[in-house]
Amino acid sequence: MSQPLVASTPLSSVTPSTSLQTHQQWLEQAVQLARENRQQGGRPFAALLVRDGQLVASAVNGIHLDGDPTRHAELEALRKASQCGPLAGAIVYASGHPCPMCLGALVMNGIAAVYYAFDNADAAPFGFDSTAAYQKLGLPLAPQPLPLIKLSVSMTAADLYGSEPQSHDHE
Ligand SMILES: [Zn+2]
Repeated sequence: MSQPLVASTPLSSVTPSTSLQTHQQWLEQAVQLARENRQQGGRPFAALLVRDGQLVASAVNGIHLDGDPTRHAELEALRKASQCGPLAGAIVYASGHPCPMCLGALVMNGIAAVYYAFDNADAAPFGFDSTAAYQKLGLPLAPQPLPLIKLSVSMTAADLYGSEPQSHDHE
């Protein structure tokens, strides 16, 4: 299936970079977007979809915009990227480990790999994990349905997920 190139974004004005961004750099970009989304009243999640070293789509969790509970960052990235060509073989950089809903969509669309910064254990103290959904669905993540690779980034889970300083002297 070949896509006509007529409607594609002109790239001529973009300075070609001599070196491709690393997985680490893409992921760093994703977590920064996630933090910005939180600062703007959204949930602290973002995802980038990259194909052949080129950014195809960047997206943030959009649930706060209209209440649609499926507006997870990974699904938003798939929706945007699907308007620009094939999804199969692309790499997704997600601030957090994908939930089962997103993971299903990523697998079904042939995403080659997911790089993420924070796993469910990182997110659990802040209530942002999807462990319960994985358990209800009985979905073990071994063997992995696609490569799910955790990389460290410059911010911590508390930097991204933590609330404003509060005193929690006791439970
Ligand atoms: Zn999700």
